Amino acid sequence: MATLGNPKETIEILNKYHFIFQKKFGQNFLIDNHVLDKIIKAAGVTREDMVLEIGPGIGTLTQYLCESAREVIAVEIDKTLIPILDDTLSAYDNVTVINEDILKLDINKLVQEKNNGKPVKIVANLPYYITTPIIMGLFEAHVPVDNITVMVQKEVADRMQSGPGSKDYGALSLAVQYYADPYIAANVPPNCFMPRPNVGSAVIRLTLHGDKPVKVKDEKLMFKIIRASFNQRRKTLVNGLNNGTEIDLPKETIAEAISELMVSPTIRGEALTLEQFARLSDIIYDKIH
Ligand code: SAM
Repeated sequence: MATLGNPKETIEILNKYHFIFQKKFGQNFLIDNHVLDKIIKAAGVTREDMVLEIGPGIGTLTQYLCESAREVIAVEIDKTLIPILDDTLSAYDNVTVINEDILKLDINKLVQEKNNGKPVKIVANLPYYITTPIIMGLFEAHVPVDNITVMVQKEVADRMQSGPGSKDYGALSLAVQYYADPYIAANVPPNCFMPRPNVGSAVIRLTLHGDKPVKVKDEKLMFKIIRASFNQRRKTLVNGLNNGTEIDLPKETIAEAISELMVSPTIRGEALTLEQFARLSDIIYDKIH
């Protein structure tokens, strides 16, 4: 039985070990068992699954994962939490704690060693200061993953799942939607954490696509174009692409490419869909090569 996931047990553990919260590690521990149940349900964790947890903290979500998964690997940067995790996870024999910085770990190698390279589920209440590098790192390294179910800042969850025309639409939306299908499973208020964060949170599940939704000749070029388009949101697409350091082409060539896309010459990047960015990228690719 998971014992953590409520304020009383959390405070008891924190006091027992004289734990001091480290702001620099984004430490906001979950103290609401309903939210924990929702995370497990949204991730669809079963006894078949190997789960990688990023940032177990004192082991609250980890206990829930151990109850429902076959095996759990939990990666925690803060060494002062390791003896606490030894204690709170002592009832489970299906968990391994690794004291490492997730951004420095070779996750592909870990999944290869621990799960024979078969897809894992990633479940976490993420440290918010590195949400994007963690998620983009997993995508770009092509780690074998079924789904990534994570607590993130509400505003970041909105950006991940929004489309053209929304103020939240941007490079992160396109990057996430290129690799995965996003679904916001729950909105979570600050009082579900200790200490309370200054922002609202949400649980988002990113289910990796079997086949990418668009085919593109050069993925890297497409993401350069996307970044350049949103770097200067208020500019037209042609000026955005002409202005930055990402795309090194004469303005006329960029204008020509946009006209071949059959959209208005004054269109802004924020109006283009992923499909249109992919087509624009291929048109520009052909002009370069
Ligand atoms: N999972 C716990 C919970 O839900 O109560 C704690 C979540 S807390 C928001 C984020 C955790 O990530 C903290 O324990 C923090 O120390 C850890 N962390 C921060 N940066 C990390 C990194 N680069 N690599 C691994 N863990 C990290």
